[in-house]
Amino acid sequence: MLTLERFSFGVGDRFAHQAKAQLRAFQMLARDGIDVAPVWNKSNREHTFIGSEPQSVFDAAKVAVQELGWPQGWHIDADHIRLETVDRFMACSDFFTIDVADSIGKPAAAADVQAFVNRHPELVGTLNVPGVSTPLTITQADVERVAAKYLLAVQDAGKIYRHIVAAKGEGNIIAEVSMDETDAPQTPPELLIILAALADEKVRLQTIAPKFTGRFNKGVDYVGDLVQFEKEFNDDLAVIAHAIHQYGLPANLKLSVHSGSDKFSIYPIIRRALQRTGAGLHVKTAGTTWLEELIGLAEAGGDGLALAREIYAYALEHVDELCAPYASVIDIDRGKLPSAATVNSWTGPQLASALRHIPTHPEFNAHVRQLLHVSFKIAAKAGSRYIDLLKANEDIVAKQVTENIYERHMRPLFIG
Ligand SMILES: [Zn+2]
Repeated sequence: MLTLERFSFGVGDRFAHQAKAQLRAFQMLARDGIDVAPVWNKSNREHTFIGSEPQSVFDAAKVAVQELGWPQGWHIDADHIRLETVDRFMACSDFFTIDVADSIGKPAAAADVQAFVNRHPELVGTLNVPGVSTPLTITQADVERVAAKYLLAVQDAGKIYRHIVAAKGEGNIIAEVSMDETDAPQTPPELLIILAALADEKVRLQTIAPKFTGRFNKGVDYVGDLVQFEKEFNDDLAVIAHAIHQYGLPANLKLSVHSGSDKFSIYPIIRRALQRTGAGLHVKTAGTTWLEELIGLAEAGGDGLALAREIYAYALEHVDELCAPYASVIDIDRGKLPSAATVNSWTGPQLASALRHIPTHPEFNAHVRQLLHVSFKIAAKAGSRYIDLLKANEDIVAKQVTENIYERHMRPLFIG
């Protein structure tokens, strides 16, 4: 059976030029004694915005793996797929993020909900779940309410999973179920009920991405109550360990943290939890690498800086249009976006510092960073002009990409 490693880290490479720079970060971490499997992820939405094909992600990753001689596992994630979008990913992916968020809250058949409730008397009462902060107490009404909210989504996950297995063969894929792109977080008791339902559907998921409490905005730090996050994260780990045992789910089932890039304030919490419990983790990042490309071009000066400034000026004129698809995952204060003239007066290192995610740096601007995070379409439109600049400035861009992943993400998550 294709088994997802204990630790895995999803990287996005929108323009398919940074796989090697990304993989170098995993090599550096391996030299530190921590093995983390790289997973290259790109969603249907990103492919559509950029005009790329899923095969290109596989091809770029394969070249990087060969050139750097990466001896361990690596995966290609069909990110946030649904039944209607999965087919174009089938040939070149071994990891499938089955996104069922759209079905959450839509009613399943009443008879199915009742059958689920009848099948799971063990969910009702005060549960003996080792490791939770306070005992989970679930009433029959809770089970009914959660089943009514999530059962259709779970049934959808089953349909998509069986569709993938029919094409690829069971045991040849890694399945993730994601429920993060929805309004309300799932509590640990809800997660347990959802896992019971996924086991009933025979979805052999190896990782699950719930929506956690707090805001996971694109490209910036976590915003929320850290004490509550820690409790919830630890309880989720306990619930997963319990569900593996209780429902015969894959023994390596683990938590997945989506929009996981740049969430610096929760990394120590996650690291402590993993060290304490021995649990696994998948962290998914994507857009953070595209921003490092821009930072590299700004640092490079000349034509690179000129294009970075142009992209900002264009983004500023199209804020509404660029932000609309991401409205629920960005918080931009437009009053804090400098004018194009101001940015045009900045040096390359100044623009790089505004963008680079070092929150304590006096020039860092989280609003500029978020706007440019969702502006990769503009670079796609620039086409070969953008790609040629990436190639011409490969070293300085690659340095930003590797450092960002290794220093700001992997070390705090896995080493401390
Ligand atoms: Zn997600």
